[in-house]
Formats: sequence, C-alpha cells, structure tokens
Amino acid sequence: MATSYETFEYDVLVIGAGGAGLRAAIEASAAGVTVGLVCKSLLGKAHTVMAEGGMAAAMGNVDDRDNWKVHFADTMRGGQYVNNWRMAELHAKEAPARVYELEAWGAVFDRTKDGKILQRNFGGHRYPRLAHVGDRTGLEMIRTLQDHGIHQGITVHMEWTIVTLLKDGDRIAGAFGYDRERGRFKIFKAKAVVIASGGLGRAYRITSNSWEGTGDGHALAFHAGAELLDMEFIQFHPTGMIWPPSVQGILVTEGVRGEGGVLRNKEGRRFMFDDIPDNYKSQTSSDPEEGWRYTQGDKNARRPPELLTRDHVARCINREVKAGRGSPHGGVFLDISWIKEKIPNAAEHIKKKLPSMYHQFMQLANLDITKEPMEVGPTTHYVMGGVRVNGETQMTTVPGLFAAGECAAGLHGANRLGGNSLSDLLVFGQRAGEFAAKFAKENSAGQINDAEIEEAARQALEPFERSASAGVEGPYQIQHDLQNMMQELVGIVRREDEMLRALEGLGTLRDRAQKTAVQGHREYNNGWHTALDLKHLLTVAEAITLSALERKESRGGHFREDFPDKDAADAKMNIITKKGPDGVMQLRREPIPDMPAELKQVIEEMK
Ligand SMILES: Cc1cc2nc3c(=O)[nH]c(=O)nc-3n(C[C@H](O)[C@H](O)[C@H](O)COP(=O)(O)OP(=O)(O)OC[C@H]3O[C@@H](n4cnc5c(N)ncnc54)[C@H](O)[C@@H]3O)c2cc1C
Repeated sequence: MATSYETFEYDVLVIGAGGAGLRAAIEASAAGVTVGLVCKSLLGKAHTVMAEGGMAAAMGNVDDRDNWKVHFADTMRGGQYVNNWRMAELHAKEAPARVYELEAWGAVFDRTKDGKILQRNFGGHRYPRLAHVGDRTGLEMIRTLQDHGIHQGITVHMEWTIVTLLKDGDRIAGAFGYDRERGRFKIFKAKAVVIASGGLGRAYRITSNSWEGTGDGHALAFHAGAELLDMEFIQFHPTGMIWPPSVQGILVTEGVRGEGGVLRNKEGRRFMFDDIPDNYKSQTSSDPEEGWRYTQGDKNARRPPELLTRDHVARCINREVKAGRGSPHGGVFLDISWIKEKIPNAAEHIKKKLPSMYHQFMQLANLDITKEPMEVGPTTHYVMGGVRVNGETQMTTVPGLFAAGECAAGLHGANRLGGNSLSDLLVFGQRAGEFAAKFAKENSAGQINDAEIEEAARQALEPFERSASAGVEGPYQIQHDLQNMMQELVGIVRREDEMLRALEGLGTLRDRAQKTAVQGHREYNNGWHTALDLKHLLTVAEAITLSALERKESRGGHFREDFPDKDAADAKMNIITKKGPDGVMQLRREPIPDMPAELKQVIEEMK
C-alpha cells in the first residue's frame, strides 16, 4: 500500500529552505549529486527572510584590527565557553569567504566609502563586523541563495511538510511528509538527509519567530535517534515590540542600538550602565559620550552597555520592569530619536539606516521612531541548543542524517551573538551540503520499510478519526496553553518548582494532544497542520524543561533564580537528551572536550 504514495528519490534530501537549507542544497548539488529541497512555506519565505541586522564575518573592512581570532574569542565569550570550540573556530575562519561568495553570487551589500562591504556594530562583537543590507539582510541573503540555487538543478517541493524521518536499521533512508495544499502523502528516498528546519520559538507565547518555528527538525531528529544538545539555552532577545498586543514579540533589531539607540526606564535613566558584567568591563564604555562615539566609528571608544550580550540586556530589562520602573505596557524605552542632539538630518539618517524599523513602528504602532522612543521588552528569539552534530561534517549521531543552521547546536554555546546566525547558516550549510553529498556518494540507498510508512500515515490521520467524538478539543487551545505555560514556567527566569510544574503540565498537554481532533478534510487544513506541529512542540518543550532542570547554574540564555551564579562543574558540561529504548526522553551530562592550547591562547590574548 505504501507504494501508492507519490515517491521521490534523491541522493540528498534537504529539509528547509532558509539560509542553511539553501546553502546546503547548493553545495550538495555542486558536488554532482541529485538534491531535493522541501519546505513548509513558499520558496523565499523561510524565516531567514526576516533577519535584519546582518551577518558577522571578520573581514576587517571597517576596522582592520578585526580578524578570525577576535571573532572566535568574542563568540566563545558570548557563549560563555560551553560552545563547541571547533565550530566556533571554523565559523570565525570561514565566514569571510562565505560572505564574499554571497557577494559574488549577487548580494548587494551596503558599502563603505571606498566600496568595500560595510560592516556594523552589534552586541558582543568587539569591532564592526556585520555585513548588512540596511535592516533587510535576510531578504537579500535568501534572494541571492534562491536565485543561485534554482539554476543548480535542485528540485524544490514547497509548501510541503515532513512528518517523520525513515530509517534502515541505524542509518537514515528518507523521509515521509505531505503537501500542505492537498494533504497528500509523499515518500522521499534519500541516501543522506540534511535537516535545516530552523528554530522553535513557537513553543513560547511571545516570540519573534515565524509560524514555521515549531521545532520540527529537532523533534524529527530526536525521534530518529539523534541526540539533542543543551536545549536549556534559549535566547530571549531584549528588544521585541510590546505594544499594541497584536504585534507583541515582533523583533526590534539590535541594529537600532548599533546605530546609537539607548535604553531608558520610565525615570529616563540609562539603566544599562548600572550593571556591567566583570568579563565585559574592560570593553564597555564608561560614560554615554564614549558609547556614542563608539557607535559613530571612533576606534578608540568602547561599546555602550546597550550592546552587551542579549542574555544580559534582556535580564536588565526584566529587572527594571519587575522593580516598577518599566514603561506603561510592561517594557522599557528604546530611543534612537535622541541622536538629533548629535547629528543634523537625524530623521533622514534613521530612515536610511533602519528603514524596516521605521516602517514597522509607523504601520504597526503608529509611532515615528525618528521622533519618539519605542516601547520594547524581551521576546523568545533563538535556540542555541539543538541537534548534536559533528563540528566538521555536521553529521548527527545517526549515520546519513545531517543538521545545519538554527536547528543544530554547538557554535553558540549558552548565548548567540547577533549576526552569528546568518554566518552560521552559510558556513555550516556549506559544510552540511558538502559532507551529505560525500556520504551519498560513498553509500548506497537504504531500504524503506512499508510498515513504517503505514504507521506514519496512520498516526498523521488520527486527528481526523476523532473528529466525530464528543468532548474532544481542537489543537489550537492545546498549543495556546503550551505556549503560555512555557512562557510562564520555563521562560527568561527559571526556578525548580516552576519547571517541575511545567513537566507535570506537559504530561497533561500530551494526553490532551493525543486526543485532539480536527474538522474537515485534508485540503489546506490549518487545524490538521497545527495538530501535527503540536507533537514537535511537545517534544522540544520537554527537552528544554528537562535540560533546564538539570543545569543548576545560570549561564547565557539559561537563568535560574534558585542558582543565580555560574557553576564550575557545569561550565565543563553539555547536557544531552536522547530517546530511550522505551521511548522515554533520557538525559545525561557529557564533558566538553578540552580545547587545544593554541585556541586557549587566542582567548587569553583577546581578554
Ligand atoms: C526578526 C528576526 C531577525 C533576525 N535577524 C538576524 C540577523 O540580523 N542576523 C543573524 O545572524 N540572525 C538573525 N536572526 C536569526 C536568524 O534569522 C535565524 O536564526 C536563521 O534565519 C535561521 O535560519 P535556518 O536556515 O536555520 O532556518 P529558517 O530560515 O527558519 O528556515 C527553516 C526552513 O525549514 C522549513 N521547515 C521547518 N520544518 C519543516 C518540516 N517539518 N518540513 C519541511 N520543511 C520544514 C521551513 O519551511 C523553512 O523553509 C533573526 C531572527 C528573527 C526572527
């Protein structure tokens, strides 16, 4: 019966058409293997398109003191030293070449006066490092990769969703999914599969992530036997819109602060000067004037505290709000309009540097950012944890299964620096494509098991069978309750008792999800899609909660009110979750491999 489903056969199947997936597909295709690319939305609409501020690469175009060593040290410091140091090294070394390659493929970057790719300041980066296109860098990246990719003979299946991975014994053999328009099942046979499915922000109520960010790739890999790494590290970006409620969570780029925007509480105080972590003191400006000079390119000035790492800035905002010094709608003020005190034509300058932010606030909040401060607060933005991969090849612990981009873990450690994701997509997308193609060339195709497919189809259709029964609920309420619970109990500030409640809550939500029903037929049925996404959300929510309970310290994107300090033993550990033989999620700690002496030396030199 399984053979009656439409079947496709590729050497390499890439799941996801964001920056990582497109870059992987291009590389694999260039290596001479057949490539299929599946994505939930239309080609060109992946979440990457939303990226604003830029991609970090130590090209040294604006400040020639920059080089891979500084970038490596910044990334490790930002990640609080639990990063996969090999990935951080490769990323810092290879990012410039990947950016120039993108330029050669047609990306139109902003320029310095002498015609080089312009680079801007961003939190945690010592020098101006982010290659950008205004505040629409993701759009340019996707446009360029898409244009380049479609000429490579890649077959694209857009608006299709993968619901399960298929295996032959231990190794990967393909994937099973459906097209969202007609709801018809599809089988993909593949020698190698690259997961590039992005993040999981939709596990939380307030998020900057697009609807696609439901952690599918994390869950697919987990259920296929791959390991997840450090899932407790979630990045809450300090500046999301908070008003009006309909736009809550939408990102306000760090580029605003990079261009001189400052954070103030309701008393008008620049509260970020109140709390500068020791390991950043020597790099942070001592007064507002020095901070301003830094944003205007003065190489002798140090960065303002608004450009400290995101985890820290988010917690400072949280502290101000909790102390009753917040803005009227529960955030703080982010002000770029004040630069009119410093430069002529400030309004035009802001519109030129931050065109999307200007329009975003005009259209969504009826607020002119050239004249008034914005109200902002933390929003769930990025997951540093994810599928565990080999740092060189991006292969997971399942042979033939690769992961790249936001769904993969390691590079960013406990906290990602802004701009390091887009360069991550390019560097490790390229590597995943290269090594997936190599795997496909060196291995024959695995066998697809019909019974496995029938079981996947049966499970996917279950919500329709329950539609007639009384007393069952649809998936939306369950998803909503999950998002609320994660926001309240496993959010920006965590405590053991609350997370234990979350674990219990997850059990209840899982029971409800197992009984959920959908109405109607399979044609573009959003309720059905949500019911299927819900399984992934529940898997990743459990991994986040279990890992967060296990890490009894505060580090980066993981802050424990009951363990507010760093712990020396935890500093040397990654936390790994894996599906046990009984189907239950298992957790273990694993020591981080020792860093080679030359990299330790780089970190010492850059202190
Ligand atoms: C508003 C905003 C601004 C940002 N700005 C920056 C920035 O300036 N610099 C920076 O470095 N980072 C930035 N980031 C982060 C960065 O954009 C993301 O981390 C990155 O784009 C993720 O890329 P990706 O290729 O891993 O996945 P995505 O771009 O999220 O793409 C995932 C792909 O997987 C597909 N997919 C998912 N599940 C399935 C499934 N089950 N079946 C089939 N397909 C599936 C999706 O349809 C999509 O095509 C920003 C994020 C946001 C939200």
